[in-house]
Amino acid sequence: MMDIKERKFKVHPQVCLEQLVPEDHFYRKVEDELDLSFVRDLVKDYYSSFGRPSVDPVVFFKLQLIMFFEGIRSERQLMGQVPVNMAFRWYIGYDLDENVPNHSSLTKIRDRYGVEVFQRFFEHIVELCIQAGLVWGKELYFDGTKVHANANINSMIPRFYHNAQQHLEELFNTQQNPDGTVDLGTDQEEVRYGGRKLFQKYDGTRITGRRRNVYRRKADYWVNKTDPDASPMSRFTGDRAKLGYHTHYVIDGGKERIILAALVTPASIMDNTPMLDLVRWIRFRWRLHPDIAVGDAKYGTVYNIVGLEQDGIRAYTPTSDFSQKNDFYPAHHFQYDTERDLFICPQGHFMPLYKRSYSEQRFLYRADKKFCNTCPMKPKCTKSKSGRYIAQSFFQGILDRASAYRETEAYKKAMRKRQVWVEPLFGEGKQWHGMRKFRLRRLAKTNIEGLMRAAGQNIKRLLKPRKSPHKPTPASPMVLAISIWNSFFA
Ligand code: SF4
Repeated sequence: MMDIKERKFKVHPQVCLEQLVPEDHFYRKVEDELDLSFVRDLVKDYYSSFGRPSVDPVVFFKLQLIMFFEGIRSERQLMGQVPVNMAFRWYIGYDLDENVPNHSSLTKIRDRYGVEVFQRFFEHIVELCIQAGLVWGKELYFDGTKVHANANINSMIPRFYHNAQQHLEELFNTQQNPDGTVDLGTDQEEVRYGGRKLFQKYDGTRITGRRRNVYRRKADYWVNKTDPDASPMSRFTGDRAKLGYHTHYVIDGGKERIILAALVTPASIMDNTPMLDLVRWIRFRWRLHPDIAVGDAKYGTVYNIVGLEQDGIRAYTPTSDFSQKNDFYPAHHFQYDTERDLFICPQGHFMPLYKRSYSEQRFLYRADKKFCNTCPMKPKCTKSKSGRYIAQSFFQGILDRASAYRETEAYKKAMRKRQVWVEPLFGEGKQWHGMRKFRLRRLAKTNIEGLMRAAGQNIKRLLKPRKSPHKPTPASPMVLAISIWNSFFA
């Protein structure tokens, strides 16, 4: 028999939110196992000692975590769901008849905290992971992924026009305070806060001294009106370019795959560019001494390999073989004579040192043009009328050592591990936590979003049920010592 459900609601005077949320609910576990009271210390400088009571910072971060866990894409959407979801209400500690914070307050609080607070929040979560023995610290895995920006590529304007407009706005918006100081524009205001140097360094502008500027990037001349920090990124599928950013992760080689560093840069910054800065930051911040750093061929630049090796870290990265781009004899057909410092070509002619290129950090060896121009093998060797060149890096010894790793079983194992280590974390972020597209705009805010997401992914691993407690790792005693030291001098 078909039933018709009557809509009739009784008044329940004895209802308690504590009883309405099931004992085994996910947010009960988060509340029991993750104490967020530390955030009050992180943000205490942003509050005055008098005035209207604010939204509790713990509540703010709990709401950020709800956004992460539920894949909610805006504060407005979040605050539309919190009042009607008992578990959310219970987690943030607001009773059924209490008014929850307004979505606009959350946006203002987020902007006031800035990247610095979110960076410290992320770091505290990594610290908890280290204390729980989840970080091994001996292997670092690098990767980056493209994330779409919240802007349309059709609204691009010339960068010169944008910079001129910005300059005028700053000029006329600048106000002098009664004490003689000057209020800076929003972007300059952000620069004042410390602790964000890394993301400011990789803001999309050309980094001098890293490589020759052999081609002009579209991002050098065009800028998007809606999100000036986003830059065009190519698509593998052949579709039109989209605007976006790169999210860079450094993952620990331990079983739990904890994210040790997260950085968002404009898409015009290649994956390999911030590698050395991230390694050095991790070593300094977590007092880790990794043995190997693993990345794909994009990370195998001379700059990265030499930097890692000089830091005492084995660079497990393939390198691109550009010698096979044409049909000429590749460099390994030429024999190097260490004693005489010259190459011997396949026809047995000497190629002495021709010049040192300090801008490209390499030696150039050249065969005599009188041999080359009469050589029967010339069509297979060079088109140059001045003879065949061979280039050798200033750091060839280090590069040879790194290429010798590629024959070892440890290298092959690390490469196999890399394939299943980092990509699933990006997959998880894109599938469940809105990592396909940033909801916020500008570099500072996308970094906030990236750090919050990385912190959330670490929290998931921290809260994962385990049969037996983890054994202490090389990382944990050191971090424990740092925490005790910090609390002693706080
Ligand atoms: S072209 Fe010049 S460098 Fe090449 S094999 Fe002949 S002589 Fe040697």
